[in-house]
Amino acid sequence: WGNAGGAVLAFISILGALAVARHTEGPVRAIESAIRRGDFIPYYQPLMCIRTGRLLGCEALVRRKRPGGGVDGPGAFIPMVEATGQIFEITRSMMAHARDELGPAYNARPHLKVSFNLVADHFSSLKIVSDMKEIFEGAQVKMDQIVLEVTERQPLPNLGEARVIIAKLQELGIRIALDDVGTGHGGMSYLLKLGVDQMKMDKMFVDAIGSDRYSTAIIDTLVKLAADLNIEFVAEGVETFEQIAYLKEHGVDAAQGYVFAPPLPGPLYLELIQTLDPIKSRVPERVRKAI
Ligand code: C2E
Ligand code: MG
Ligand code: MG
Ligand code: MG
Repeated sequence: WGNAGGAVLAFISILGALAVARHTEGPVRAIESAIRRGDFIPYYQPLMCIRTGRLLGCEALVRRKRPGGGVDGPGAFIPMVEATGQIFEITRSMMAHARDELGPAYNARPHLKVSFNLVADHFSSLKIVSDMKEIFEGAQVKMDQIVLEVTERQPLPNLGEARVIIAKLQELGIRIALDDVGTGHGGMSYLLKLGVDQMKMDKMFVDAIGSDRYSTAIIDTLVKLAADLNIEFVAEGVETFEQIAYLKEHGVDAAQGYVFAPPLPGPLYLELIQTLDPIKSRVPERVRKAI
């Protein structure tokens, strides 16, 4: 036995160690394998023109597939993956996924846009510029169909640096949106210094429509500011028809929210594009058949 017994014991303890290692797989490793498996996917929330009823595009929002089916929202994992730096990897895989999934539909409809959310750290390195080229150069989703969102919730580490990175992205044809306007650190100085193309007013102002005169005064001010600065204005988190009516009356064109649709899985969003296709929906079937 002697040696053989020792070998068997050693073998068993290696198996044991492996089992323990698997069990205690660190959170970083767990996220790495989830990225490799393709567990992080985009859902797409439609962006509508409330003046014309047309679909303008969507915002891609990250979801993580659950082992038993269903998905988790970003609240469950974004804070952690931001801390470990893995948010960059997830953003890249989300963008590649959206590029492949939306490519044919977007290539046929150049007016449609897709927005992605970035974190403040994305604006402190030119890496995001080369990433965008690597992912989207020659793709069916064109640079001028892409919007990158920077949130006002997180302070940008260096405004001057961010401005340079934003300008380089804009040179590629990409548009930049300031997200969650009214909630955070940036406020007026971000609008002044970053040169953004779009502002997305936070849901809290939409929530206050009809009840809080301070918020509605702020909406009016932001709409006017956007118009004066020639910045596209989007209202987020629109949930009721009363809110749509108010926003329309106050000069808002673009809105996003549950009143239209929640973030949708890819196939459903693609179906919606077909259904709302301005060409198909305006020409009666028998006319199209006669062409
Ligand atoms: P956000 O960019 O402001 O996205 C809008 C959030 O509001 C989304 O939540 C959306 O599902 C939700 N929403 C949209 N319409 C309504 C509405 O009518 N009512 C209510 N109550 N909520 C509405 P979600 O998908 O849970 O995302 C939360 C936040 O997580 C996002 O806020 C964004 O800051 C962040 N996030 C999402 N996807 C990504 C991503 O791929 N990368 C990064 N860095 N952040 C992401
Ligand atoms: Mg956003
Ligand atoms: Mg937002
Ligand atoms: Mg928001």
